[in-house]
Amino acid sequence: MARSPFDPLTRIASPAAVATNARTHEKEVLFCFVMSVVLVTGGSRGIGAATARLAGERGYAVGVNYRVNRAAADAVVADIERSGGRAIALAGDVSSEPDVVRLFEAVDARLGPLTALVNNAGVLEQQTRVEHIDADRLRRIFATNVDGAFLCAREAVRRMSTVHGGAGGAIVNVSSRAAQLGAPGEYVDYAASKGALDALTIGLAREVAAEGIRVNAVRAGIIYSDIHASGGEPGRVDRLGPTLPMRRGGHPIEVARAILWLLSDEASYSTGTFIDVAGGR
Ligand code: NAP
Repeated sequence: MARSPFDPLTRIASPAAVATNARTHEKEVLFCFVMSVVLVTGGSRGIGAATARLAGERGYAVGVNYRVNRAAADAVVADIERSGGRAIALAGDVSSEPDVVRLFEAVDARLGPLTALVNNAGVLEQQTRVEHIDADRLRRIFATNVDGAFLCAREAVRRMSTVHGGAGGAIVNVSSRAAQLGAPGEYVDYAASKGALDALTIGLAREVAAEGIRVNAVRAGIIYSDIHASGGEPGRVDRLGPTLPMRRGGHPIEVARAILWLLSDEASYSTGTFIDVAGGR
């Protein structure tokens, strides 16, 4: 059965891949299966790490990007290799254009043609109100959460779009329910950055829909990870979990499963759409 670029194994036939059958002497086109390649930004911890591990289990070759925590990225790579998969750790700050260009070049050189991108890297800062937010903080939040996602999407489209000679692919953006709820009293700047990510998801999806690329997003709810410590409240999930419709916080793997579904051919007719993984919030 022919496979699509969204499956972990992609069937390719090169025009040069023609051989003569020794028995029938007929020409045969040789197909070979190459691994699908996914880059997970911020793949070293939390939701990104769970996504990278699951992608490895499902047969993707995985680029595990990180910004500073090399040891955490190496641990994810080791987990994937232990389960029989292929992965590499890749340093790079997604808010830096030269870093992003280098990051994708490293994927090209070390893993092969990119077929999927998970724009997961994201940051937030100390819980506060809008009247205490200054321009430097806004720039930091938007630089990673918005500029980073745009730059990575650009590099992915340049590689995957059929207009650029690519074989198609899929992008999943990791957004937040905060985009719609606004995160009042906590981080409205972060919520606004995720609103921008949602607009990127819709606009880019329509821009490249006829070029073999699907672009979707998950909007995560309150998920156990280190990010809440950055907001000054490491125990935030335990505090808010019981107030949610499902009466608990979510786990990174629960978000990862939705991401992997959107990447997969199971979601072949879905683009520009969102899955809320938020326990009913
Ligand atoms: P996390 O545990 O804090 O992990 C963040 C990851 O992003 C780390 O791997 C970190 O790498 C990386 N990172 C941060 N800034 C980066 C940059 N500029 N360039 C490259 N990598 C960078 O966060 P998480 O909770 O898993 O969140 C992952 C995504 O889910 C984020 O986009 C977040 O907004 C979204 N989300 C999370 C929740 C939640 O409740 N946890 C809810 C909704 C949405 P280093 O350690 O090397 O810096």
